[in-house]
Amino acid sequence: MTAEHLKCKECGRTYPLEALFVCEYCFGPLEVAYDYERIRSRATKERIAHGPPSLWRYADFLPVERRPDVDLQAGFTPLVKADRLAAELGLKKVWIKNDTANPTHSFKDRVVTVALQRALELGYEVVACASTGNLANSVAAHAAASGTDAYVFVPANLEIQKIIATAVYGVNLVKVRGNYDDVNRLCTEIAADKHWAFVNVNVRPYYSEGSKTLAFETAEQLGWRAPDKVVVPVASGSLLTKIHKGFQELGEVGLIRRKTPVVCGAQAAGCGPVAAAFAAGQEHVKPVKPDTIAKSLAIGNPADGIFALEVARETGGVIESVTEQEIVDGIKLLAETTGIFTETAGGVTTAVLAKLAAAGKVHASEEIVVYITGDGLKTLDAVAGTLSTYEIEPDMADFEARVLEGEAGSLDGEEHDDESGAGEDSRRQAV
Ligand SMILES: *Cc1c(COP(=O)(O)O)cnc(C)c1O
Ligand SMILES: [Zn+2]
Repeated sequence: MTAEHLKCKECGRTYPLEALFVCEYCFGPLEVAYDYERIRSRATKERIAHGPPSLWRYADFLPVERRPDVDLQAGFTPLVKADRLAAELGLKKVWIKNDTANPTHSFKDRVVTVALQRALELGYEVVACASTGNLANSVAAHAAASGTDAYVFVPANLEIQKIIATAVYGVNLVKVRGNYDDVNRLCTEIAADKHWAFVNVNVRPYYSEGSKTLAFETAEQLGWRAPDKVVVPVASGSLLTKIHKGFQELGEVGLIRRKTPVVCGAQAAGCGPVAAAFAAGQEHVKPVKPDTIAKSLAIGNPADGIFALEVARETGGVIESVTEQEIVDGIKLLAETTGIFTETAGGVTTAVLAKLAAAGKVHASEEIVVYITGDGLKTLDAVAGTLSTYEIEPDMADFEARVLEGEAGSLDGEEHDDESGAGEDSRRQAV
C-alpha cells in the first residue's frame, strides 16, 4: 500500500490506517497521507493504461492493500466534449464528465467501492451509511455484490426512485423521520456503539479518497493534462476538495505538468451554506435547513464546507448557487444540448456553469470540465409536468393533423415555451 498513515487536517498529528476519522487532540478531520516517492516509482502512464477499465486502474493512489475480488467496476466513465452546450453559453471548450454512467448511476460508486474494500481489509462484517439517496443505492449494491450485511439510513421523504433502487438489493433500509443532518447525527451515535463500517462516518477518510479518481480520469482522458477550470457540485464538500487533491497528486508524481485547475463549486440556493459563506467572505460555514429539489446535495451542515471554501478561494474559483427554476432549466439545457439526462444535482452544476458564463466569470478561451454526478431517472419528479408529448389515434390522418400540422401551425410558439399549457383541445399533452 502506498498510503502511510492518517493525518489530521488541522494539527498534522498522525494515526494508523484504521477506522478513525477525527483527531483525538483537536477534533479535526483525518485524511490519508501517502508516500509520493513510492507512487511516483510505480504509477507510470503505461501501467495505468494497462489497468482495468475502472477506477481500480488508479489503485496505486488509493488507500487499500489490494483491489477487491468481486467488484462492480465503478468509474472510467465517459468524458464528452459538449460543443452544443458550449455554443449555447458563448463558450468553446466544455467537457462533461458523465458520471451517471456508473453501476448505480451516480459518482457515489467511486467512494463506496474504496470504503467497502478498506472496511473488509480492516475486518468489518457489516457496512452502513447515512445517505441523501445516491449513497444508499451504491452501498446497497456493493453490499449485495460482495455478500456483506448492510444497514442503510435515509431521510423518510426521499424520492421513491431512490428508495426502490436501494431496497431492491435486499438490504436493511431504514427511513428516518428527519432531514439528512438528523440521519447523520443518529448514524454517528450508532457508529460509536456498533462495530459497523459506516462508509461516510468512521471510514470516511478512505471513502472520500475515491473521489480523487474523477480528477485522475479527467486528466488521462484529456491526454494527461489538467483543464483550466472545473465545476463541481457541493453537498458535504468532500467531492470538491478531493478533485482538487487528485489533480495536485498527479502534478506531485509527475504525471501531469504541475497545474491546479480553478475549482468552482455549485449549490442550490435552497441549501447553499457554502455558497453563502463564499459570497459573504466568511471563513466559517453557517448551517442551514435544506429546502430544495436537489436532495442529493441537501446537507445543511457540510462536514468539509470550510475546506471547499478554501480550495475555491486558493485556486481563484467561486462557489455559486442557483434557484429551483434554474435547476430545472439546467437539467433541460444539458439534456437538449448533450443527450445526457441528469438528476437535480447535475441541474445545479449546469445552471451554475450557465450563470458563470452569463456573468463573464468563465471565458471562451478556457477549457472547462463539468462534473455530472447522477442520473435523471432518479429524480423524474423534478421535470415532470414541464415537458410535452403528442397523443394520437393509430391512423395516418390523425398523425398528420395532430403532429405534422400541429408543428407547422399553432404549436410553433409553444416549441420554445417550457409551459406547454396543454389545454383540453391542445394537440400536445403535458408530461
Ligand atoms: C453526494 C453527491 C454529491 C456531492 O457530494 P459531497 O462529496 O458530499 O460534496 C454530488 N452529486 C451527487 C449526485 C451526489 O449524490
Ligand atoms: Zn488534530
